[in-house]
Amino acid sequence: MAEIILKNITKEYENGFQAVKNIDLEIKDNEFVILVGPSGCGKSTTLRMIAGLEDISDGDLYLDGKRINDVSPQDRDIAMVFQNYALYPHMTVYQNIAYSLKIKKVPKDEIDRRVKEVAASLGLTDLLDRRPGQLSGGQKQRVAMGRAIIRHPKAFLMDEPLSNLDAKLRGQMRVEIADLYQRLNTTFIYVTHDQTEAMTLGTKIVVMKDGEIQQIDSPTNLFNYPVNKFVAGFIGTPTMNFFDAECLEENGELYLKTADGKIVLTPEKQQKLREGNWVGKKVTGGIRPEHVRICSEEETAFKGNVSVFELLGSNAIIYVQCGEERIVINTDETAQQEHGKELFLNVKEEKLHIFDPESERTITN
Ligand code: ATP
Repeated sequence: MAEIILKNITKEYENGFQAVKNIDLEIKDNEFVILVGPSGCGKSTTLRMIAGLEDISDGDLYLDGKRINDVSPQDRDIAMVFQNYALYPHMTVYQNIAYSLKIKKVPKDEIDRRVKEVAASLGLTDLLDRRPGQLSGGQKQRVAMGRAIIRHPKAFLMDEPLSNLDAKLRGQMRVEIADLYQRLNTTFIYVTHDQTEAMTLGTKIVVMKDGEIQQIDSPTNLFNYPVNKFVAGFIGTPTMNFFDAECLEENGELYLKTADGKIVLTPEKQQKLREGNWVGKKVTGGIRPEHVRICSEEETAFKGNVSVFELLGSNAIIYVQCGEERIVINTDETAQQEHGKELFLNVKEEKLHIFDPESERTITN
C-alpha cells in the first residue's frame, strides 16, 4: 500500500526562487503517475521532495496517512531511479544490486537469492560479474531498476530514466517499465518531458508549468479535454494547430469566421459559446493535425500551399503555409503532395477546441 498526498507544497530555493508553487496532488496506491512539462517547470524538484532529497519549504507530504516531511530518505520506503543511473562504478552488477540489503545487514544467503531473482526478472543474470563501465546504456538502466526493486519499496520514483538512451532502446525500455509496473503492482511516480512516455505509461498525468499544476487527468482526457491552450499544445504530436477566429451568428446559428472562410459549429459548442457571451468576439481555435480535413474551395476555412510533405510510412505529415499561419495535417492519405500545391482545409467540427484568447482557458470543454 502506498498512498502519497501532497498538500499545498511549495519549494523555495535559497536564492528565493520558487520552483514549486503550492501544489496539491493525491497519488493512490498502484497508480502510475507521470509528472510532465517543459524544462524547468519543477518536475524533478517535486519528485526529489517526495524522495526526501530536497527540503519542503511549505506544505505537508503524507505517505499512507503519515506526515513524512521530516523523515529521512532512507526511512521513507521509497526507491528512486535517476537519469544518470548513479551506479557505483567500482562494484559489480551483483554488488550494486545487493548494496542496499547489505547495508541493512540482511543475511548473505537471502541477499543472494533476492539478487538472482531480480537479475533474472530483468535479464541481467549473465551480467552479474561485470562492472557498470562494461555495460550498455540500457543494461545500466536495468541495473538501476534492479537496485530499486530489490528493496521492495512502497513506491518507485523515476527521474527521466530513459533520457540517456537512443530512440530505439528508449522504446524497448518503455515497454519493459510498463511490464514491470504490471508485475510489481506498486505506485510509480515518473518524471519526463517526453509526452509519448507520459501518454503510454501513465494512468494519471500531471502537467506542470512554471512550478504550478495545469491539469491532472487520464491520458485520454488530457488529449480530448485539455483545460487550456498550454496543455492542448503540450500533449499530442505533432502539436495542435492554433488560429485566430471570430464567433459570429448567421440565421440563428453560430460559426467561426476564419482567415479564409468559416467553420461550422456543433450544437454543443454553440451553446457553450452563447453561455459564455462569446458571440461577436475574437477567440482562439485549436485543431489537432489528425483532425484537419482537406476540403473543396467552397467549404474552406483556410487555404494555403504545401510547404513540406513528410511520408512516415502509414501516414503523412503535410505542412501547409496559410498566409502567416502554418497548418499541419496528419493524414493516412499518403499520396505525395507536390510542394507549392494549393490546398483547401477545414476541421472535423466535433474535434475543434476553442480558447479564450486572453486567459487561454478552454471555452468549449
Ligand atoms: P528539467 O526537465 O530540465 O529537468 P524540471 O521540470 O525537472 O526541469 P527542476 O529541476 O525541478 O525542473 O527545476 C525547477 C526550477 O528550479 C528551474 O528553474 C531550476 O533552474 C530551479 N532550480 C533547481 N535547483 C535549484 C537550486 N538549487 N537553486 C535555485 N534554483 C534551482
